[in-house]
Amino acid sequence: MFACLDLGGTNIRGTWIDSRGRSGQVDLQPRPRSLEGTKESLISLIGRIQGQAPERLSGIGLATAGPLDHRRKTYLRTSNMPELDHFRVGAFLEEAFSLPVLMENDAQAAALGEVWAGGLAGRTEAVVLTLGTGVGSGVIMGGTIWRANHFTGPELGHIHLGFGRPRCGCGQEGCAETWLNKQALMDLFQEQGHAVTELREMLPLVRQGDEGAAAAMRHYGERAGLYFSILQVTFGMRAIGLSGGLSSFIPYCEASIWETLKSRFEHRPWWIPETIAVSPDPEMSALKGMARAFVLQPAQAADRGFENGGSRNLQGKTRQG
Ligand SMILES: [Zn+2]
Repeated sequence: MFACLDLGGTNIRGTWIDSRGRSGQVDLQPRPRSLEGTKESLISLIGRIQGQAPERLSGIGLATAGPLDHRRKTYLRTSNMPELDHFRVGAFLEEAFSLPVLMENDAQAAALGEVWAGGLAGRTEAVVLTLGTGVGSGVIMGGTIWRANHFTGPELGHIHLGFGRPRCGCGQEGCAETWLNKQALMDLFQEQGHAVTELREMLPLVRQGDEGAAAAMRHYGERAGLYFSILQVTFGMRAIGLSGGLSSFIPYCEASIWETLKSRFEHRPWWIPETIAVSPDPEMSALKGMARAFVLQPAQAADRGFENGGSRNLQGKTRQG
């Protein structure tokens, strides 16, 4: 049984999850905008999870916005949480709780959660996108996170999709993220005359069948379809998974996503994925992924050797297998 946390720019969430996917209630609190405040929040949240968990915890899994180094369990230079720059959160939590800690990029954790116990349960190959303030990604191969040659894994939200949007947080112009994130969808609604500023104002319009909202969703679906077609020629996956706050909008633009894919791949229909699956519970994707990360790497957790100082690390494991 693991304490699984999701630390984002705005909130810290967490609960206990066991190796079969059972979980407790999610505890959510705003994240203080200071390093000391964040540390205190982490300690008190994990303490509460410890108190509520029906069994003793055997690890702490932290899914978080990055950039981060999952091997050293440390933040790198972040853009939206500068107070956490170079914070060695793994060492901090290991010392505080004497438990092994795993750290993952939140979108990669979400991908793992979706193929384990989400919309793509049972699949071992998939690209999973987390649509929200940004566009995060995780590529699952052989049932686990594919990290490519660099440890961070592919950052599919930064594929160039065409100019005409504001510069991306990564410094480039034209990233898919800027065409498909929350701001992009809001801009499409505003072009249709809806002065919306929050997703919760937009979903009712879509559900009511508002014409402008339907047009905005159609346009969004065409962009998403174009983007997915690029991912399909790259990865050729049978399944694409979607999580994050924006994923609940996908059923309302699914038709234009499929139309776009079919028209682009008219002469290569085998490039069309079998399924595009929206997460049944986007709030849980990354949390479940962290529990799964422990299940997939029990040797690693043991190998951290907390009793003997935790000096052996992943590198040896990686070379072996
Ligand atoms: Zn970018």
